[in-house]
Amino acid sequence: MFINGEVKSNTVAYADFEKYEDQVITITGTIHNIRMMSDFAFVIVRTARETIQCVYAESFSSYRMTDDVKEECAAKITGKIVAGETKDGSKRYELQIHNIELLSHPAEIPPVVITKKQVNCDLSTKLDFRPVTLRNPKERAIFKLQEGIQRGFREYLTQQNFTEIHSPKINFAGAEGGTNVFKLDYFGKQVYLAQSPQLYKQAMVAVYERVFEIAPVFRAEHHDTSRHLNEYISMDFEMGFIDSFEDIMNMETGVLKYIMNLLKTEYKNEVELLHVELPEITEIPVLKFMDAKEILMKTFKYKPSDMKDFDPEEEQLLGKYAKKQFNSDFIFITHYPSKKRPFYTMDDPEDPEYTLSFDLLFRGLEITSGGQRIHDYNQQVEKMQKLGMNPEEFATYLMLHKYGAPPHGGLGLGLERLTMHLLGAKNVREATMFPRDINRVAP
Ligand code: ATP
Ligand code: MG
Repeated sequence: MFINGEVKSNTVAYADFEKYEDQVITITGTIHNIRMMSDFAFVIVRTARETIQCVYAESFSSYRMTDDVKEECAAKITGKIVAGETKDGSKRYELQIHNIELLSHPAEIPPVVITKKQVNCDLSTKLDFRPVTLRNPKERAIFKLQEGIQRGFREYLTQQNFTEIHSPKINFAGAEGGTNVFKLDYFGKQVYLAQSPQLYKQAMVAVYERVFEIAPVFRAEHHDTSRHLNEYISMDFEMGFIDSFEDIMNMETGVLKYIMNLLKTEYKNEVELLHVELPEITEIPVLKFMDAKEILMKTFKYKPSDMKDFDPEEEQLLGKYAKKQFNSDFIFITHYPSKKRPFYTMDDPEDPEYTLSFDLLFRGLEITSGGQRIHDYNQQVEKMQKLGMNPEEFATYLMLHKYGAPPHGGLGLGLERLTMHLLGAKNVREATMFPRDINRVAP
């Protein structure tokens, strides 16, 4: 026997029904919903990305539906494609069933109703039964849309001469430091789960100049918030030979424009199903950190609890400000205080209290942190010492600087956070296929 790599397509897409008008074809899918009417029945078949309306009536064929035909049976359905009209008068095809061949039988009916427009239960139940609730067309559309975001990120950066890399997730040190690192016993030695690909993507800048990675990262968030996960997908890039950290913000703006356009054109069904309002991006306004603080205090009469960072309410207010002042869903905030940025961040030579760094807020939520990194060896060693770190422990990281690195910078963009605010969801878990949080590691 030989295998030749030929695989038939799994079903016929609705877009091709026109071609088959009045012809008998076979589609494969799952019986999503059966709606009995007085003398006929609608059988809605769920395929990978669509639901197809099929009609059963004794008048079409000699086939007789039995009680075996149930929701969630996998099936091959043969029938004639006929054109009908929708309420608004446009053409709509359906399949008149001539035969149903059942390929599998569920042992039980789903524990949650998935045939309605949306899954109507609380978030926790929805997550408990994720393998089932994701079968709901609206629910699964979220992660198809999310695929589009990742695809856009990958496609655009590949076009911009970036190389896709994968950095290790088990490491000798966490990248960002702080308390939210997961410790792991590694054959008797203590290691850490990667909080970001930071140290490795920087190393690769001296190899490929421009690199990106889309991969999970791990943060031991000890709190239960609507915007934090313990494992999330970070879309990272790092680019060398930059003139300034504005190059990074420009690259991100280009990525986002590309992503939104891709969603508009190739994820139209999902965008409509989810009522996503895609942001129009032409230019993104930029505000310095201290100027933003001043706006918060003067315009919004807000009393900041921390002058070195923003709390979620401040981010929301800045989102409102961006919308009102610049009609923008996005705003870059630059020059964060040095004290709150990681050890690899380049300080602003004009005012070393602040850094050449930025965050991007989308509809009032931080979705990105980025900035220029230190590329000079002595400068990096000095900064580490100033922060009480031992450069010797970072010897492999410092190979980058020691043996020469171009001026560079990059960013990390949280996939779930971007998806969440595209959806207008209140909780990041809505935009996470199988969320990991302080209370949940299953399913
Ligand atoms: P926050 O201040 O909101 O806790 P952070 O500043 O600690 O976030 P960064 O280290 O800057 O986060 O991470 C870069 C990006 O990764 C963030 O802008 C966000 O989009 C995403 N991100 C960070 N932590 C989480 C998390 N726990 N769950 C989901 N996404 C996250
Ligand atoms: Mg951040």
